[in-house]
Amino acid sequence: MAGTRFAPGPAFGRSRVPGMTAEVEMRDFSNDHRWLSINTATVRKQGNLVEIVDALARHGIRGISPWRDQVADVGLDRAVKAVRDAGLELSGYCRGGMFTADAAHLEEARDDNRRAVDEAAALGAPCLVLVVGGLPQYSRPGSTPSKDLAAAQTMVEEEIGVLLDHARKAKMPLAIEPLHPGYAADRACVNTMRHALDICDRLDPAKSGDVGLAVDLYHVWWDYELFDQIRRAGRSRILAFHVCDWLVPTNHLLLDRGMMGDGVIDIRKCRAAVEAEGFAGYSEVEIFSQDNWWQRPMDEVLSTCIARHKTVV
Ligand code: ZN
Repeated sequence: MAGTRFAPGPAFGRSRVPGMTAEVEMRDFSNDHRWLSINTATVRKQGNLVEIVDALARHGIRGISPWRDQVADVGLDRAVKAVRDAGLELSGYCRGGMFTADAAHLEEARDDNRRAVDEAAALGAPCLVLVVGGLPQYSRPGSTPSKDLAAAQTMVEEEIGVLLDHARKAKMPLAIEPLHPGYAADRACVNTMRHALDICDRLDPAKSGDVGLAVDLYHVWWDYELFDQIRRAGRSRILAFHVCDWLVPTNHLLLDRGMMGDGVIDIRKCRAAVEAEGFAGYSEVEIFSQDNWWQRPMDEVLSTCIARHKTVV
């Protein structure tokens, strides 16, 4: 059985979070890392997926969120076996999306996304994370160039609706990840929690949990509506929680994410907010860092993630 060699981990208890006036109900991570997950992008330069799985097991890390290209690199069957043999649980699967395409590339995009759902199911993921795509020429290269962002946003919503049919049959929840507005053109034209939740409400008014959000603090920490929208999301819409930090200055929008504690995000306050809604899953560390963390040995990166998970997350 996956996970049987792990302790149950901390229960919810009362804590005082700096910056919050009242004590809040949240888990105490200071003594163990039962609820730490590593997004495999964090150590993608240091080893292949099987090597990453081995390293996580070595560090007693239970959660993993693999990327499709890293799974494809070792083969899906080998990835499934490695994850199972190590007793790991997935906190998500990265990623589906890039929904925007011209007519000539639409079926390719749909097929690709259905495959992503099926891979996520094979791996036992709790959700497929969606990076929804920006303008079609960047989302699906070869598509006719466009500057119509509103059309891209409409298409994203329609195509999530199309994928939802397949995802429901596969019992695979879809987690829309709102991305920082700096990515609107090339990666995701859904840039706020509000927009993502509006889409969820239109596609799934019953709040079934079939579609919700991946709340990645790197992308949403700046949003003045963040805490209101976390409350609006509630338990059924919060499917994943991604952490890293926002460095000042940030030298590259994609490849200069910070380790938790090295930047300006009040991570614990944000975790308190999602846990106040009943989220009780993994804190998934996702750091793209070409000049810093990708240059360090895998064991050093993982040890640092564990330490910061206990002290900062
Ligand atoms: Zn993320």
